[in-house]
Amino acid sequence: MRAYEAVIGLEVHVQLATDSKLFCSCHNKFGQQPNTNVCEICLGLPGALPMPNQQAIHYATLVGLATNCHINQSSVFARKNYFYPDLPSGYQISQFDLPLCEHGFLMINVQGQEKKIGITRIHMENDAGKNIHSTTENVSYVDLNRAGTPLVEIVSEPDMRSAEEAVAYLKMLYGIVTYLGVCDGNMEEGSFRCDANVSIRPKGSLTLGTRTELKNVNSFRNVQRAIEVEIARQQDLLDDGDEVIQETRLYDANKNITASMRSKEEAHDYRYFPDPDLLPIEISNETLEKWRQEIPELPRPRMQRFMELTGLPEAEAEILVQNRELADFFETAAKLANPKKVANYILGPMSRIANNNHLDLKPSNWTMSPESLAQLIKIVDKGTISAKIANDIFEDLLTSGETPEAYIESHKLAQISDSSEIEKIVDEIIAKNPKEAADLKGGKTKLVGFFVGQVMRQTKGKANPAVVNDLLKQKLGF
Ligand code: ADP
Ligand code: MG
Ligand code: ZN
Repeated sequence: MRAYEAVIGLEVHVQLATDSKLFCSCHNKFGQQPNTNVCEICLGLPGALPMPNQQAIHYATLVGLATNCHINQSSVFARKNYFYPDLPSGYQISQFDLPLCEHGFLMINVQGQEKKIGITRIHMENDAGKNIHSTTENVSYVDLNRAGTPLVEIVSEPDMRSAEEAVAYLKMLYGIVTYLGVCDGNMEEGSFRCDANVSIRPKGSLTLGTRTELKNVNSFRNVQRAIEVEIARQQDLLDDGDEVIQETRLYDANKNITASMRSKEEAHDYRYFPDPDLLPIEISNETLEKWRQEIPELPRPRMQRFMELTGLPEAEAEILVQNRELADFFETAAKLANPKKVANYILGPMSRIANNNHLDLKPSNWTMSPESLAQLIKIVDKGTISAKIANDIFEDLLTSGETPEAYIESHKLAQISDSSEIEKIVDEIIAKNPKEAADLKGGKTKLVGFFVGQVMRQTKGKANPAVVNDLLKQKLGF
């Protein structure tokens, strides 16, 4: 068996979260009755003229700026001609030789190794509709609500060498488009989807092997698995003396295999030409500068800042920045209470509750505010409740939206620090356990734990441990 090296390049389609579609004023909305969200332009009726959506150009440019691309201030829409039932005009409006963005890159980190992944181009295009194949009748339907919705396609260089690197790149990109707010990030609804191009070559070889393209793999986990099984399949072929055929393949997550879908088209099959209905997109220096200023702090620098703030290792700080909402939540709370403790609540109980309920770690899944989390930490620091009680009530606080102060008050959870109240209980317990009391007095100090435990049990954990200790010392003189 020879040693091979995998080569991977990704094409990522990002649905832009604009108000309207790319070339008409239909709403850009998911989940409506089939064929109700359409007009003569997105239906591709003869004579209807497209009008470019400024917000889509704005959003696409932000993606280019955030991925270190050169922005072509004059770029051109081109027709990509092909026939498919979900494409009524017979062509997709895309960009070809003059795309909006080119020559970018992203830095990824895999197992402590920094690596630069090149971005060849980012272009704008409109999406097609959807074919729906009935499972009960021998019939297919077409829903054109999605036709004309705005996409950017982000094409990487073939710079990745493992499934792990591909997923790291993809997650980085996902973080960027959701931080920018240009994509809702909903992968199940297809707002962020990826085609993976995979080839292998003998280790050390400089020429590229024949690639296959895995279509529309719709979760990070499936991207990882699809690439892994495709690499293994190609290795088996080469080891058996067979060839890899350039083709489009589909990943079947249930069987964990890839299967041939169709042979691959070449660019010249599409007969690209500039769309005569649309002028070039021109972006002035002023506009470009203004848009550049809008780029927020992106996940990677933010993660580095959080690492300094909390002393957490990268793997954990990465969790805090995985979506902007969570990073904002952390940051607001960390301004009001100890940042490390805030992080601990998010990485500990909050993650656990999310997992148990199959929810993303997104604060909007619950009602607790960052101010409430900070308040909880301060209440524990003050000793009003113990850390254990704070953990016990955390899920209630998360889902009820009650402030910790109000919750502790209404559930009578505040620690008892009033020594006369605790003294009564201590006396009772000493009276009930005369032998142990005598032993402790006689120097068997490990019995302190027994007495403290009894008091805690009686008070449901609410007695102030310091006060309990003092009282025991006073009474039993150990
Ligand atoms: P197409 O539309 O024909 O798929 P694109 O240029 O849009 O072509 O995308 C090609 C993608 O495939 C890029 O991400 C590129 O990096 C990647 N790629 C090209 N050749 C190979 C190869 N031999 N192995 C792996 N990936 C490749
Ligand atoms: Mg492709
Ligand atoms: Zn329309």
